[in-house]
Amino acid sequence: MTLDLAAIRAQFPILAEKIHGKRLAYLDNAATTQKPESVLRALDGYYRHANSNVHRAVHELAARATTQYEAARDRIAAFLKVTREEIVFTRGTTEGINLVARSFLQPRLQPGDEVLVSGMEHHSNIVPWQLAGAKVVAARVTDEGELDLDDWRAKLGPRTRLVAIVQVSNSLGTVNPVAEMIREAHARGVPVLVDGAQAVAHEAQDLRALGADFYACSAHKAYGPTGFGVLFARREHLEAMPPWHGGGDMIRTVAFEASTWNEVPYKFEAGTPDIAGAIGLAAALDWIESVGLDAIHAHESAVLDYATPRLAEIPGLRLIGTARHKVGVLSFVMDGAHAHDLGSILDQQGVAVRTGHHCTMPLMERFGIPATARASLAVYNGTDDIDQLVVALHTARRLFA
Ligand code: PLP
Repeated sequence: MTLDLAAIRAQFPILAEKIHGKRLAYLDNAATTQKPESVLRALDGYYRHANSNVHRAVHELAARATTQYEAARDRIAAFLKVTREEIVFTRGTTEGINLVARSFLQPRLQPGDEVLVSGMEHHSNIVPWQLAGAKVVAARVTDEGELDLDDWRAKLGPRTRLVAIVQVSNSLGTVNPVAEMIREAHARGVPVLVDGAQAVAHEAQDLRALGADFYACSAHKAYGPTGFGVLFARREHLEAMPPWHGGGDMIRTVAFEASTWNEVPYKFEAGTPDIAGAIGLAAALDWIESVGLDAIHAHESAVLDYATPRLAEIPGLRLIGTARHKVGVLSFVMDGAHAHDLGSILDQQGVAVRTGHHCTMPLMERFGIPATARASLAVYNGTDDIDQLVVALHTARRLFA
């Protein structure tokens, strides 16, 4: 099925913005996606017609807010194909991983215990394990930007307490074989956390079939609002884990001597939550499904296939990350140009890309570069965006030559 790109773009008001007088080619979707009208309407509608605090009042607005908020949990659970009790609302992928580090890993940790990651992790899948006191061991990344599975297997050892793996690399677009890795880790009795931040908007997920113990993702990378996310955790883990933040909503009873905890998942949701965030994410998932993840994936793959040779043939440009299985991320460096200067020149041409280390400093180190420029795709991108990028890159090349 081919997408009606014009109809899709018409649903994203921000795409009509002029940038320095130019048409906007928004290619920074791995950082955050733009939001369709239906999500904007859901956020606006919540604040206009239902705004109240959840769970703690009997008045009509509180009932509306609670109903919509809990319906969002059902919607999100259905999208990920798990049960609502296994969906913990968070501020995003980062908070979900920190929750697992603090509440699951830390109490089990002995000195010298390891968390096995890959060399392409986002900092949020490295630093929380260090803060919890674990030794972080990273499996090698090949020159093409693929995970070296033999090295990963060799490092999956008797001290490995947890495997934590990015499903799709934000810097390279590489899709890792997480299902196979989960099977192998489980065969060794090691639980697995999957960082799904860059996956949920691009490929359909069935977390029950995947078998991960934990799965973290962010709403804003999937057409939803910023500052909201989801941690899936298998129910038996959630039941066994202690709470990590204390406050309202996460308790059953409170006394000065001792307190008791609410049932899961509320045990992990202290304080007034981002109610609109949950409602906005549910609307975003409705929108994704109205387009269809298979259609989204096919379209983005076609644009990636169009873009890759066009970028590769620009003299002096080197693509970083050419894995066989990848999604729409094009990271590159250009001879004689610092990535930030390149990004500024592209911006003048209306092309929005991200430049820097993309919160993957060890990966940059692996490739011996300080930074890349990164164009990353969403469903509203087309070959015209790539053409605009290529023209802008030729302009940059002449300036740097
Ligand atoms: N993991 C990956 C692979 C990411 O790309 C990102 C964000 O760029 C994160 C984790 C962190 O997501 P958030 O900042 O929404 O918590």
